[in-house]
Amino acid sequence: MSIVVQKYGGSSVADVSKLRQVAARVMRTRATGHDVVVVVSAMGDTTDDLLSLAKQVSANPDRRELDMLLTAGERISMALLSIAIRELGGDAISFTGSQSGIITNDRHVDARIIEVRPVRVQDELARGKIVVIAGYQGVSYRREVTTLGRGGSDTTAVAMAAALGAEYCEICSDVDGVYTADPRVVPEARRIGTLSYEETQELAESGAKVLNAQAVEFAKEAGIAIYARATAAPLPGPDPSADGTVVRKHAPRVPGTVVGVASEKDVLVVAFRAGSPVEREGVSRGDAHAVLALLDEQRVAGKQLHVADGRMTMVVSRENLHEEGRVRAAIEARFGGQVTIADTLAAVSVVGAGINASFQNVRRGSDALAAAGIKAEGIATSSFRITWMVDSLCIDDAVRLLHRTFIR
Ligand code: ADP
Ligand code: ASP
Ligand code: MG
Repeated sequence: MSIVVQKYGGSSVADVSKLRQVAARVMRTRATGHDVVVVVSAMGDTTDDLLSLAKQVSANPDRRELDMLLTAGERISMALLSIAIRELGGDAISFTGSQSGIITNDRHVDARIIEVRPVRVQDELARGKIVVIAGYQGVSYRREVTTLGRGGSDTTAVAMAAALGAEYCEICSDVDGVYTADPRVVPEARRIGTLSYEETQELAESGAKVLNAQAVEFAKEAGIAIYARATAAPLPGPDPSADGTVVRKHAPRVPGTVVGVASEKDVLVVAFRAGSPVEREGVSRGDAHAVLALLDEQRVAGKQLHVADGRMTMVVSRENLHEEGRVRAAIEARFGGQVTIADTLAAVSVVGAGINASFQNVRRGSDALAAAGIKAEGIATSSFRITWMVDSLCIDDAVRLLHRTFIR
């Protein structure tokens, strides 16, 4: 029997009646003759609520203890969903990340999956069970409980789909696929029927929350098709791109087409300048590499690194940075005024294969922003993306503007 992996996000399991709807959808899938593995997120805002509890106890909560706390969220949903499926007559069994064989490195709070050993999942499928797995979590080689970073249930689902050789991995959410921009920000955004792995990964890394970037990376490696769909939508039919988004190899597209606009609001821009004016007693002066070493020591993951002429800038996502105060203090103690940290900027990106074959798109976007009075504090490009750093107060306007400019 072919295996289908389905992931249900937090909004899809936010309360008991929604859990029941998910259980019914799982039962309908089972009735089509598939083996079904279900990955669930924590109910509603549970993860945010747990994080805020930890923050009330400590401004810089310990990462290991955060993982112990945060994994509880998904554990609640897995058990409740399993109970709901059993109530409908299904034979379900729930497993934590550790029980289902998700092995990670030991980077607490944003661990990476390094191996999946789904023996127990396979055994239970062979017994005819529906297996319900707690998303977003795993266990390290040192047998420590870990979490995979915000949005990590998608990663659990795709990694499990790859390990089981699933037919496809369905990511079910409150939105019926990947849109040309966040439909909450751009009401005229359109659903995209088919996307390539590279386009989707770039959109996700630029802040499109609907799919997790690491999940897409795993899907690409294993060649697993992702179906992004609404939980309320019917099961995938013969053409799942008709009422959802299919992420797969070779999406048909004219090179140079912008497929979407994404933004990331909650970022820090860390800047280093050799020989800054502030020279203080006890502060040893360093170079850009020393800054990177310190960030690694503090387990801060940065992106869009740019080093030139004794200057360095880097964008750090705050999503998995729960001890910002401690990190800032460590930077201040080591580098003083050599390093500045700005929290007033946000990143807006347009994404598409080959969009930087000429400078036409960069110029077009920059002109549009300038004409609207939105100052670009920085521009970065890759073969798939153009990113402008703008004042975070105008980020949604910038997204709407670039969507109007590039997506017809
Ligand atoms: P879940 O809890 O199901 O994982 P998320 O909140 O993580 O759901 O992701 C779904 C949300 O992502 C949508 O409600 C939507 O507002 C947002 N989103 C951001 N960018 C996009 C996009 N390009 N297409 C669709 N949704 C997007
Ligand atoms: N519950 C986790 C989060 O809120 C994981 C997920 O939903 O994918 O980030
Ligand atoms: Mg999500």
